[in-house]
Order: sequence, then C-alpha cells, then structure tokens
Amino acid sequence: MERASEGAFASEPEGVFARWRELTEWARDVDVAGHPDSIAYGPFELGAPSPRPQQVFGIGLNYADHAEESGLAIPEHPVVFTKFASSVTGPDADVRLPGDTVDWEAELVVVIGAPGRRIAAGDALDHVAGFTVGQDLSERTVQWQGSPAQFSVGKSFEAFAPTGPVIVTLDEFDDPDSLAITTDITAADGTRTRVQQSRTDQLIFSVSDLVSRLSEVVELRPGDLIFTGTPSGVGAGMAPPRFLQAGDTVTTEIEGIGTITQRFHR
Ligand code: ZN
Repeated sequence: MERASEGAFASEPEGVFARWRELTEWARDVDVAGHPDSIAYGPFELGAPSPRPQQVFGIGLNYADHAEESGLAIPEHPVVFTKFASSVTGPDADVRLPGDTVDWEAELVVVIGAPGRRIAAGDALDHVAGFTVGQDLSERTVQWQGSPAQFSVGKSFEAFAPTGPVIVTLDEFDDPDSLAITTDITAADGTRTRVQQSRTDQLIFSVSDLVSRLSEVVELRPGDLIFTGTPSGVGAGMAPPRFLQAGDTVTTEIEGIGTITQRFHR
C-alpha cells in the first residue's frame, strides 16, 4: 500500500485509521490484483489488523441469551470493561492457558477510524473503519475473583484478544447489522463441536449505540477496538461447565469477514 500510493499512506496500519475515508476512496481505484507491487499472502500470515490500539473496550452481557445463561439481568446500560492492549494478537495464534477455567466468547469487533467525542448515534458509523472477528478469551476464576469482579484482568492475559483476519468496511456487507457468528472447538482427538451460533442482530446495544454511549465519556481514537459482546454458548454456561484444555483449537467465524483460530497449550 505504501509503494502503490507512492508513500502517501504509511505501511504501518495504525497510521491509516485516522485517514480512513481518504484511504478507502484512494483504494477504490487501485487494481490490487494486477498491481506490480502486489504480493500473494494467506490471511494467517497477517497480524492483528489494528495491532496497537490505544484503547480496547469490552461489552458484557450484550446478547439476551448470554445474560440468561450467566444468570444475570439484561443490563439497562452497557456493561463496559477493558481488555488491556497488550492482550491483542492476530488471527492465527498459539495461546498459553494460564488456568483451568479459560472460556471462549465469539465477538464482532468494531474498529474505530475517525476519532470523536460525544458522537450522535446517527453519526456513529462515520467513525467506524470496519468490523473484524474477535475472541474475548476469559479466565473465569480470575474474572470473578473478589467483589467487585475483575473482568479487565481476567480477560487480558497474553494473546487473550485475538482479532482478524481482516477489517471489512461496512459497504461490503449486505446487512452489517445481521451477520452470522459461530464458535467451533476441535478437541485434541479431532472431535469438533459447534458451541456458539447466533446473529449480530441479537445485540442488545447496537454498534451505533455503543459508539455513541462510549464517546459520551471517552474520546474514541483511530484504531481503537470495541468487543461488542458474545452470544450464548460459553463454557461457563454449560452443565457441567466446559473449559479449554491443552490441545483444543477454537475457530471463530463471522459471515462476510472470515475466520480466526487459536490453539491452546499449557
Ligand atoms: Zn465478551
């Protein structure tokens, strides 16, 4: 991109989020496949699409069926925590299990483009660079340690915020508000189980609503990530509970974006 634009856009991803509109307008006229500087790559060769976000927001209990399986009331206001930025990793990752109660949470992740404060819900999508796939990995024992609970630390171990494989701009979706989202777990013996299956039209607080409400308090900055919450089917909600074991592989897919994969080890 840097070569094709003759240096107009930097090769580092974080430089382009603040100029997202300019970038997407420029990219529209570029013949990517036919360009002499194009190189073939697999999506898993890429790192996190926003590798060094200044802020990473997580939204808890944003699907009614997940609030129910957690035994918690449907929130009247978004439940917000942070995943510390050093937990961000790319779409194909090996993840060390720091405990015996690590759980999965498939999530649509919003990537912020243009910065802003006090953004009206009607203008919110103008501040969104696009959507990517995320897993809000959670060590449940640490998350629920103490009172109040410790969501931010329980969800910020190394590589606990995998994202990717790409950012898809909203114009690429038929309906960006309704995307199929799934999590599959493949155990060491090869048994594959679909544990989460929903659609993003089930979000209690929509993407526009979240961007608007967060920006009432916090300045949203280019490259920031918002993990928008997970549907039902997490391990802690199962009877008996199921948590990730060494040798498990978690595959998360969102319609129109792609797939991310993590392999877990001790
Ligand atoms: Zn979550």
